Amino acid sequence: MEIGAAVTAVKGALDLARTAKDVNDRAQLNAAMSGIMDKLTAAQGDLLDLITDHYQLIEENRELKQRLSNRGLFSQYRLVQVAAGDYIMSLKDECVSDEQPAHAICVKCKSEDRLSIMTEDEYWYQCPSCEHLVTL
Ligand SMILES: [Zn+2]
Repeated sequence: MEIGAAVTAVKGALDLARTAKDVNDRAQLNAAMSGIMDKLTAAQGDLLDLITDHYQLIEENRELKQRLSNRGLFSQYRLVQVAAGDYIMSLKDECVSDEQPAHAICVKCKSEDRLSIMTEDEYWYQCPSCEHLVTL
């Protein structure tokens, strides 16, 4: 959807309104009003489409920014193979701190630029986002 279509429809309605203000004939006035209403209805539809597109773009932009931010954070992790053969991404030792304790993130989610911290116990790691299970 282009904004040009909505602008053209509003301009057309204004042109009709300017012409109609000097019309004394009732039938011509009714026809002009009908034309104005058609053009304004078209403009309203076009603007609703534009607003929908606008919000979709805002959402896409937010997701892309999050992905870029995650890519920066991924450099804090290293690929680790567990005893059973599967892989996790483990926080590098030099990045472990009081604010950021040792943990692992999901390799499947990372491949989609999603940072998901895995829950762990004695026998496995599990991703809360995609349910990926890594047995130790
Ligand atoms: Zn995952």
